[in-house]
Amino acid sequence: MIEKKIIKELEKKIGRGKVFTEKEYLTAYSYDATGNEFLPQLVVFPGSEEDIENILETAYKYRIPVTPRGAGVGYSGGALPVNRGIVMVFTKMNNILRIDTKSFLAEVEPGVVTYALQQEVEKKGLFYPPDPASLKTSTIGGNVAENAGGLRCFKYGVTANYVLGLEAYLMNGEKIKTGGHVIKNVAGYDLKSLLVGSEGTLAVISKIILRLIPLPEHRVTFRVDFQSLPQGAEFINKIIRGRVYPAALEFMDRTSLRMVYDYSGLPLEKGVNAAVLIELDGNKVDVEARKEKLLGIVKESAVLDYQTAQTEEEQESLWNIRRSISPAIAGLQPKKVNEDIVVPTARIPQTVEFINGLAVEYGLDIVLFGHFGDGNIHTNLMVDPENKEQMRKVDIVLDKIFKYVISMQGSITGEHGVGTAKKPFMKYQFTEVEMELFKRVKKSFDPENLLNPGKIF
Ligand SMILES: Cc1cc2nc3c(=O)[nH]c(=O)nc-3n(C[C@H](O)[C@H](O)[C@H](O)COP(=O)(O)OP(=O)(O)OC[C@H]3O[C@@H](n4cnc5c(N)ncnc54)[C@H](O)[C@@H]3O)c2cc1C
Repeated sequence: MIEKKIIKELEKKIGRGKVFTEKEYLTAYSYDATGNEFLPQLVVFPGSEEDIENILETAYKYRIPVTPRGAGVGYSGGALPVNRGIVMVFTKMNNILRIDTKSFLAEVEPGVVTYALQQEVEKKGLFYPPDPASLKTSTIGGNVAENAGGLRCFKYGVTANYVLGLEAYLMNGEKIKTGGHVIKNVAGYDLKSLLVGSEGTLAVISKIILRLIPLPEHRVTFRVDFQSLPQGAEFINKIIRGRVYPAALEFMDRTSLRMVYDYSGLPLEKGVNAAVLIELDGNKVDVEARKEKLLGIVKESAVLDYQTAQTEEEQESLWNIRRSISPAIAGLQPKKVNEDIVVPTARIPQTVEFINGLAVEYGLDIVLFGHFGDGNIHTNLMVDPENKEQMRKVDIVLDKIFKYVISMQGSITGEHGVGTAKKPFMKYQFTEVEMELFKRVKKSFDPENLLNPGKIF
């Protein structure tokens, strides 16, 4: 229980309309995209930096845990208040403060929705490339805290590559600024890079300065079908080595293809067991020249069929195939355990084969799709949480998958973060010495372990 006098003190500082104890609020902010739930004791909506400072000062004074939260579409439990306390929701701090078309940067509040920022900068001929599939809902604060990736990572990199500077508050309410408004900046330790991907465990991000680049003038998208995933991998290797310079390289395995085609009412050609989606972007003449190179490689490869999408409408319908995987597979089982393992790109086919083997051995539905260019394999175990025997198998299979991924020189997570979901598997990727170092970093930012406790370790 948070005492009434503390709630009153907080209301007095930031205003009554920003502090909620009602059951419906507590419930609404108790879960994220993992589907797991932890009921907070208080939900607060800061509207300004002063509000953040006041909330943190009060929470620190009474030693109440605080969990920052953007849109709550995280896949690793980062926004779950596992130790109860306060959930600090950033959806009201959603102003784009400035778009600077001369220094190519934007200053934003953490609650700005990713897609809203992209739309605004594109109106000015600029481009903010990070594009998590959740971009129409996720916030920039959540993207920075998770170092979100997306479809175009192969060419443009992840969120970290676009963060120039951050303003943030420590748990005790003290403010820090790190990085700034320039690309080159090597003064002092790089705390900015430490905060990016820190999952809300080190500091509360209050302002983000983002790098922008010129908007590519032309795009072409392709779908290419294969009889097997290794053939798709071979093709991707050829186009990368053939200097086609793709922006996005996505793959779908047989199960995800079948599910998506059924869901969209489209016929899936017999013999198609893998498909890749490729996007080229840049200036028109250059893109058209690279398109011809790509079509040349299509002709000399073991391709079953392909489609070129030139217009925006055609491109949207191709990308919708990829985006509809999640809703398409949702009907398979009541719950999706969504992992985002990464392996070096050459090892994608053998990793997919290994996981498909486990699916057969343990009788589980496992749907695989992901980013061919960066080795990120979305591994979806479709389960019924009521089925105890199935859940026991899921634990065994996950353990085997994470161990395998590490043996392949990969990582247990490429973009979703550790949160609560991947905590048990950190030991496969890090030594005790490395884990101890993480804990010491956490302690130097948050000695009382009050900011988003229970995450990462
Ligand atoms: C359908 C779907 C598709 C997805 N696709 C992708 C994808 O392609 N790529 C990808 O990377 N992810 C993807 N995700 C995962 C998720 O959308 C991202 O992790 C996203 O960055 C979460 O943003 P959010 O605003 O919902 O953050 P939340 O889930 O609310 O929070 C995530 C973490 O950020 C912290 N946080 C939030 N705001 C702040 C702040 N101001 N200061 C400090 N910490 C803060 C929270 O404490 C938490 O640890 C997907 C999720 C879904 C449901």
